[in-house]
Amino acid sequence: MNPKWNGQFSCFDLVARPADGSGETARTVVSVMDLEIGADDFIVMAGPCAVESEHQLLTTAEAVADAGARVLRGGAYKPRSSPYSFQGLGVEGLKILRKAREQTGLAIVTEVMSEEDVDVIAEYADIMQVGTRSMENYALLEALGSCGRPVLLKRGMTATLEEFLCAAQVVAMAGNPQIVLCERGIRTFETATRNTLDIAAIPVLKAVSHLPVIVDPSHAAGVRSIVPALSRAAVAVGADGLLVEVHPCPEKAWSDGNQSLNFSEFRNMMDDLQPYLAIQQEARELRPRLVVGGAD
Ligand code: PEP
Ligand code: MN
Repeated sequence: MNPKWNGQFSCFDLVARPADGSGETARTVVSVMDLEIGADDFIVMAGPCAVESEHQLLTTAEAVADAGARVLRGGAYKPRSSPYSFQGLGVEGLKILRKAREQTGLAIVTEVMSEEDVDVIAEYADIMQVGTRSMENYALLEALGSCGRPVLLKRGMTATLEEFLCAAQVVAMAGNPQIVLCERGIRTFETATRNTLDIAAIPVLKAVSHLPVIVDPSHAAGVRSIVPALSRAAVAVGADGLLVEVHPCPEKAWSDGNQSLNFSEFRNMMDDLQPYLAIQQEARELRPRLVVGGAD
């Protein structure tokens, strides 16, 4: 890590690891139903960008569960760049998410955009997603402090890692330590991808913070063809999981179809990740022995 990085951790002390590195055993594990995010398992969250209909969501839920996902994603409240785009089904979408949860046993992650919606969304969701555009919505972050649900906090598209961790600190200070950080790509001069996946953010965040870190390859890529490669990279750098967009018919999706995988593409990606996950698991098991042996 660049030694010049402003590692004055006092502004995010609640989410920082001890500077001497002694925090290896004190990582936050975020518990959701029977899942532990940030522990041994690599947790894949998958589903459509937006909940469009019961049929769309239920078929997607079955497909992603079958391929190994543990959490179903789907937005009922959508932050859209254009006010003319589909804004989400609202409570109707939340009810469909609940039905998918009942049918598949998958936990639900869905976005909350306003502090006014926190209570109603917390009734239906297992994990409250804060999108990239809301990372600096401090009223929302504070309201999530008492929502009783874990928070999946996405990095603002122009936020430094320090600003990202300060946003996590706001949620923790407001009383909620169950936070998962999500790198989803940042704005750079590059236009070949929708955003630039800051792959270095994952080891930096894991070195500096005790919170779990996952990667959203879909919003970083903007095109489905490179989602599997970014997912492999996420595994290799030690991410705790993925958030991936999957749709029964991406060409017809109401939002983010270009970056959504269809069912077979998602299954293939999950299968192809297995050898990489096995190597990571082996590295994880070796790590304590290296410490005991005094190697650096
Ligand atoms: C999403 O997950 O669909 C979304 C809107 O993501 P982001 O906030 O990263 O753009
Ligand atoms: Mn999306």
